[in-house]
Amino acid sequence: MRSYRFSRLLAAFPWLLVALLVADFNLNRAGPRTPTSSPTERILQQQQRHLQLQKLRPHAPSPLARPAAAAVAGAVPARAAAAWRLRPLSVPQPPPPPPAPPPLPIHAAAAAVLVSAEAQGTPAAVIYVVTPTYARPAQKAELTRLANTFRQVPWLHWVLVEDAPSQSPMVRALLARSGVPGATHLCAVTPRRYRRAGLPRASEQRNEALRWLRGEAARGPLPAVVYFADDDNTYSLELFHEMRDTRKVSVWPVGLVGGRRYERPVVRAGRVVAWYTGWRPDRPFATDMAGFAVNLQVLLENPFVQFRRRGGRPGMQESDFLRQITTMQELEPKARNCTKVLVWHTRTEKVNLANEPSGQGDSVEVEV
Ligand code: UDP
Ligand code: MN
Repeated sequence: MRSYRFSRLLAAFPWLLVALLVADFNLNRAGPRTPTSSPTERILQQQQRHLQLQKLRPHAPSPLARPAAAAVAGAVPARAAAAWRLRPLSVPQPPPPPPAPPPLPIHAAAAAVLVSAEAQGTPAAVIYVVTPTYARPAQKAELTRLANTFRQVPWLHWVLVEDAPSQSPMVRALLARSGVPGATHLCAVTPRRYRRAGLPRASEQRNEALRWLRGEAARGPLPAVVYFADDDNTYSLELFHEMRDTRKVSVWPVGLVGGRRYERPVVRAGRVVAWYTGWRPDRPFATDMAGFAVNLQVLLENPFVQFRRRGGRPGMQESDFLRQITTMQELEPKARNCTKVLVWHTRTEKVNLANEPSGQGDSVEVEV
């Protein structure tokens, strides 16, 4: 009896199999999803359908974009909005992207490439960067640009000298937030009679810095190198790497100056023998303020050397100054024998304020 039932079951088995297959086929036709699609494929398919729906109703807001608020604004009927609002709940969310690695601090990245030796141990020297600056519409922009550079240079001390009788709140706050670890804020006013076009600029400010360097800085860590960095130039990080081991006076090319693409000291057998310049080639040291650095020791050994106003002509300040402390033969050429431009004498265009209101302007005070 049992074997009879078993044989009947065996005979029915193929039919059962066929019935199951047919049922499965019908199920597959009912929906677009196939049982073989992976969870990611399913999400993609759902998103595509969702996008198609959006295309069909171009003016309807995205159901993912706060439909209830849209309903309040009258963009879609409330009932439709409610329906849309439910839909996202049934859409499986794609897995979140892996967290991005934390960004490297900019100064760390730059230091690693350019100044790793100085960044890790005691540097060859501290660099005192002297910047004269005066109040004008683009002043904060210029100083922000400098701070962004200087804060990336290890062992740099920024000596900012304002052409003003006292510290201005803007400059003080900017220096405090500059991120430059060492900073000193000085002031020196340019006398009215020297505030004329055609006269050298910033002599008083640079001299005030010299006074501070010979006093305060001389009591600080040595060796030290001094660099005069005007506030509107553009400085590469590599430049500071180059100047750091200045023994007396080092020199290098300056871009965009003297009516040429660049000026540079001409070097033969490791010595400066001439100047490539398009402007006053008779200058004994035909370089821009941005084209040299001086070891602080040299300034200490020449305690009375200053930037001279009397008889000073624009463009001759550098030459006059260098003539007092060094000779051509002594100059130390940097930047691949003075063939690389690492600093540019950029000049900021005068700001157009033609549309500034003369009387009552904005309702709030905005610092620019
Ligand atoms: N400067 C100053 N007071 C002035 C004019 C200029 O302190 O009355 C500063 C200025 O901020 C800059 C440097 O002196 O750091 C040289 O000035 P500028 O860039 O105008 O001169 P140039 O580019 O013509 O050499
Ligand atoms: Mn300038």
